[in-house]
Amino acid sequence: MTIEAGTLFVVAAPSGAGKSTLVNALLEREPAISLSISHTTRPPRPGEQYGRHYYFVERAEFELEVAEGIFLEHAEVHGNLYGTSREKVQGLLGQGRDVLLEIDWQGAAQIRKSKPDCVSVFILPPSRAELERRLRGRGSDAPEVIERRLRNSRGEIAHAHEFDYIIVNDRFEDALDELQAIVRAVRLRSALQCRRHESLIAELLA
Ligand code: 5GP
Repeated sequence: MTIEAGTLFVVAAPSGAGKSTLVNALLEREPAISLSISHTTRPPRPGEQYGRHYYFVERAEFELEVAEGIFLEHAEVHGNLYGTSREKVQGLLGQGRDVLLEIDWQGAAQIRKSKPDCVSVFILPPSRAELERRLRGRGSDAPEVIERRLRNSRGEIAHAHEFDYIIVNDRFEDALDELQAIVRAVRLRSALQCRRHESLIAELLA
């Protein structure tokens, strides 16, 4: 039996800050964290797979799911709808798994309300020029999509201060170490450790 719920990590960033690459590298280092796969109405990019990157759905289906209350949070981002399945996340947390949500600031704000114990991290690019370079370099989005994401980046970055932690993704390895340090520190919080090591503490006090 699991005696504790897992931790819910929320990671947000403007498009092009390198969030997905960082998160994927973190998951390789920390395989005990489960990444939540979102639902979206955005069309798949080349190489993206249903159920691995996203659950790609039609807008009408997404709106029906919203009405049914299946989402823990949902938001419109860059003209597309995105949402996190409540059942999946609750199930994993209940099994004691740590779960990571890669979502936008609006979703993060909703999660903070319903799950105040979540740990939120915002990733910043090292400069505006670098953000633009990374977005254009991705090569998988149409020019108008890139322009829209660049325009929207200020709106996302304006919410960075609402997050528990901020990481500047300049040197990738440093940013990855910092993200992992947050995960490790959270796991060592005394409230968790006291429960985990109840018998050790009892023995040491005897
Ligand atoms: P992309 O289209 O580049 O995969 O994602 C665009 C934005 O939508 C990113 O900021 C990403 O974090 C956000 N996003 C992805 N999934 C979700 C979700 O389930 N909920 C919310 N609120 N945002 C999401």
